[in-house]
Amino acid sequence: MPSSTPQFLSTPDRPLSVTLDLSRVSTDSAPAPKPRVNLSGLTRAQLMAALVESGVAEHGKAKMRATQIFRWIHHRGVTDFALMTDVAKETRARLGETFTVTRPEIIERQVSKDGTRKWLIRMAPGIEVETVYIPSVGRVGALCVSSQVGCTLNCSFCHTGTQALVRNLTAAEIVAQVQIAKDDLAEWPSDKEDRLLSNIVFMGMGEPLYNMGQVADAIDIISDNEGIGISRRRITVSTSGVVPQLETLGDKTQAMLAISLHATNDALRDVLVPLNKKYPLEQLIAGIRAYPGLSNARRVTFEYVMLKGVNDSADEARALVKLIKGIPAKINLIPFNPWPGTDYECSDWATIEAFGAILNKAGYSSPIRTPRGRDILAACGQLKSESEKVRASALRRLSLEAMVSVDDEDDEAA
Ligand code: SAH
Ligand code: SF4
Repeated sequence: MPSSTPQFLSTPDRPLSVTLDLSRVSTDSAPAPKPRVNLSGLTRAQLMAALVESGVAEHGKAKMRATQIFRWIHHRGVTDFALMTDVAKETRARLGETFTVTRPEIIERQVSKDGTRKWLIRMAPGIEVETVYIPSVGRVGALCVSSQVGCTLNCSFCHTGTQALVRNLTAAEIVAQVQIAKDDLAEWPSDKEDRLLSNIVFMGMGEPLYNMGQVADAIDIISDNEGIGISRRRITVSTSGVVPQLETLGDKTQAMLAISLHATNDALRDVLVPLNKKYPLEQLIAGIRAYPGLSNARRVTFEYVMLKGVNDSADEARALVKLIKGIPAKINLIPFNPWPGTDYECSDWATIEAFGAILNKAGYSSPIRTPRGRDILAACGQLKSESEKVRASALRRLSLEAMVSVDDEDDEAA
C-alpha cells in the first residue's frame, strides 16, 4: 500500500504543524460510507435546504425547523441532537443518522499569564490549525481564526508563507474555531451583553480571499442573530490584496476590511508581498476606495509591519499618508516578529513611535500593539531550546496581539 507522510512545519506559530497522513488510504474496493454533513457549517438557508433534501423536514415546516435547530447549535452551543429537547424524538434520531453537530478534536490548549488562550485543533486527520483568543482590551475580546492550512502566497517576512497550502478550510471548520473558543470561555448561550468574545479577525493562517465561498458562509453563520450573533462590523477580514475579490468580499459579507500594505511603493511591495506584482498599488488602492460600505464609521485598517531599515523611515510614513489620502482609514503598526531563518529585524521602538507620530499628525489613528507582547518576547528569549515550541507559540501570541485591532475606538465604531 502506498504510504507517505510529508511534514509541513510552520510559522512563528509553530505548533501550526500539518501532517498529511496518507498511510490510511484504503485499497479496499468497498465504497466508503458517506461522511455525515456537519450542520454547524450551514447557513440557515442551507440548513433549511438540507433538511428538505434529506426528508427530515417537509417543505412547509423546513424554515421553522431550520431556525429551531440553528438556535440549538449556534445559540445554545449543543453538540448532540439528543439535547434538542423541543424537536420530536423521532426527528432527532433521523437527524443523527444523516448529520452531525460535533466539534473537531482539540490537540493542545494553552493559556498564557495574560489570559491569551490558544487551541491547536485537528479538523481532520493531518489537518491541524491554531486559533487564538486575545482577551479583553477595553470591552473587546477578539478571536483570530484561520481560513486555510498554509498559504499559496510567499510574503517574505511571513513564516506562514513558507508553508505550502495544504487545503482550504470549510465553513464548518471556520465556525468550529469560534465554537471551541465559546466552549472554553463558557459563553453559551450566545447572549449579547458583556461578551468575552466580541470580535472576530481573519488574521490566522492563510489568505481568506482565496477561500471566499467558505469564509462568506462562515461569516453568515457567525453573524446570524438567531445564533452567535457577532455583528458583521465586529468581523474583520485581512487580505494581502487580492484586488478582484474585494468587491465580492464587501457585497457578500459586509465585513470590515484590513489590508496588509507594508510598503508604499511597488518596488518594495513586490519584494515584501509578491502578490503586488499581480495587483500593484494603484490597482489595490483603487479597489480599496471602491470597497462597498466604506465610510468614516467603517474605516479600512491598513496593516504595516515595521521592518528595520526596510520600510520604516519618516519619508515612508509621509508617502503612506499621501498614498491613502481620502480613504477613511486607520493604520495598525505591527512590530515585526522574527522567526528562525529570517533576515528581517523589527524596527526600533523610537522609530516606530516616530513613524506613528507622522501618521497621527496627518489625522490617522495608528496604534502600535506591543507592550504585553514585548513582555512575552522577553520571557521567551530566556527559554531553553527544548522549549522551542513554547517559545514559538509565544511569538505567535505577540504577533496576534500586535495585529488585532482591539482598541476602544473599534468598539465604539462597532
Ligand atoms: N493572509 C492574510 C491574513 C493573515 S496574515 C494577510 O496577509 O493579510 C495577518 C497579518 O500578519 C498580515 O498583516 C501579515 O502581513 C502579518 N504578518 C505576517 N508575518 C508577520 C510577522 N512575522 N510579524 C508581524 N506581522 C506579520
Ligand atoms: Fe503570510 Fe498573509 Fe502573506 Fe500568506 S498572504 S504569506 S498568511 S502574510
